[in-house]
Amino acid sequence: MGDRNYRRIITDVIKRMSHDIKPETEKDNKIIQFSEVIRCLRRSYFDRVDPIEQKGLRFLDLFRELMRKMPYGAVNGEFSVDNIKLKIYAEMIIDDVVIVFRPVPKPPEKLIPSDALYLNACLWILDKTDGIVLYFADNGDEVSFSLIRESKMFEESIRRVRILNNLLEEKKIPVLEPSTECNTCQYYEKCYSVEKKQVTLSLESLLGFKDKEE
Ligand code: SF4
Repeated sequence: MGDRNYRRIITDVIKRMSHDIKPETEKDNKIIQFSEVIRCLRRSYFDRVDPIEQKGLRFLDLFRELMRKMPYGAVNGEFSVDNIKLKIYAEMIIDDVVIVFRPVPKPPEKLIPSDALYLNACLWILDKTDGIVLYFADNGDEVSFSLIRESKMFEESIRRVRILNNLLEEKKIPVLEPSTECNTCQYYEKCYSVEKKQVTLSLESLLGFKDKEE
């Protein structure tokens, strides 16, 4: 018992789960998953063209993928944009209301914009009018936001679908889309060449007091 390397056992289990559950990356440029256009397009491009494995699958990702694989959930939808096939799925439809689940560290105060785009696209593609995003927080709290489908938002999403498809076809890397997403992005070093250096700064040295004393 004492010789067992529990850390390694746990790491192996997480690796295996990540492998089995993580979503497949689409290879065909003519097929776009809607989830690819509500995030940074540059990241979605790298995922297809020059992927770097994202370290560890977070619980939130596991939850989403598990929900998707439930037999009673996941309503899939497809939509044609020119010759591009756009794919999306909602976790559930109950009483004609589309429901999208989103596990979050803490309940947001507003509907997160990327989730609004996602739900709105679900409503158009699945031909429904109303939908709800249901957020589950780590501490068990939940909060939901409803949305009625809106055409302008969907048009903007379709514009991004075309952009991603064009860039993939032309093998052109999309521009940077700086956001908080960058903090956890596996392509951070590709986008920002930041040198890791330990710098000790004090308020005195910043204001120049220290220099005067020396
Ligand atoms: S670091 Fe930011 S800009 Fe670069 S790919 Fe990731 S999310 Fe996009």
